[in-house]
Amino acid sequence: MGGRLSLAEPLQGGDRRALAKAITLIESTRADHREQADALLTALMPATGGALRLGISGVPGVGKSTFIEALGVFLLERGHRVAVLTIDPSSSVSGGAILGDKTRMEKLSMDTRAFIRPSPSGGTLGGVAEKTREALLLCEAAGFDVVIVETVGVGQSETAVAGMTDLYLLLQLPNAGDDLQAIKKGVMELADLVVINKADLDQAAAMRAQAQITSALRLLPTHAHATQRVMKVSALKSDGIEPVWAALTALRTEREASGAWGARRREQSLAWMWERIQSGLKQAFMAHPGVHAQLDITTAAVREGRTPASTAARQLLAAFQAGSVA
Ligand code: GDP
Repeated sequence: MGGRLSLAEPLQGGDRRALAKAITLIESTRADHREQADALLTALMPATGGALRLGISGVPGVGKSTFIEALGVFLLERGHRVAVLTIDPSSSVSGGAILGDKTRMEKLSMDTRAFIRPSPSGGTLGGVAEKTREALLLCEAAGFDVVIVETVGVGQSETAVAGMTDLYLLLQLPNAGDDLQAIKKGVMELADLVVINKADLDQAAAMRAQAQITSALRLLPTHAHATQRVMKVSALKSDGIEPVWAALTALRTEREASGAWGARRREQSLAWMWERIQSGLKQAFMAHPGVHAQLDITTAAVREGRTPASTAARQLLAAFQAGSVA
């Protein structure tokens, strides 16, 4: 068929239906679809890269969809085109969806200048993240100049999101400062901006959280130079959205000037390539008949302490190599 390249033109013209179809194509697991998807992505590559890629995460109920709606509407009013993609770890494990209900982001979902796409369900987190990353490129090719990748603060999905975005924003509740243990340290380190939401509920608590998180961030070895900032908003009242956007654009300007912006993207692309190679190799390894024949016996031998793990790995790799190259 090969006709899917015909999606390229309407997609680049900003046609949201063509974009949705293209994303469905990249999400397909069929081998012929994968080939078409690769051809389409390659054709569109020159048109990608133009968006600010913003990662947003936070625990369920922190106000992610309310915040994204407020920020999204703010951006549309200023002439931006906004796409929202989600990585939902629950959809990759169980097919269930923490982020999936339809009432989220009502205004944005009704606005023709915005595009919202929920997480593909099924597959591993790595697989879902791969599709999201490709969907992000398609959104850029379709002219969206702000692409938000949202994830829920459970599992490893924050790392996946930070690994595909330019800036990563962590949403927190006003009481977060009381229990800094609850905030995973690794996630804090990833955050370019920490935003305390629901400040309208308790201004004093929000200010306390702001002070506590700010000092906690200063203690992180990687952020001694702290360009990170902690801000307060009320997503519900659209209060504090403009300063958040100003902080994000200031970070962009600063990093573009220093070259860090482009460097981060180049590293992300290469890291992504290697990640996919590793995952592809592991799949091929597990599916290899020679490995398969030996795997149970060898793993039992390692489990029971009869064979050193490193020796077992060498044996299995030898079996893999013996049959895989002519
Ligand atoms: P998500 O699970 O992180 O996407 O959270 P939601 O955006 O669905 O918000 C969870 C609940 O918190 C909803 O009932 C929202 O109306 C409420 N909420 C979100 N932001 C705010 C806020 O700034 N102030 C107040 N008071 N409530 C908020």
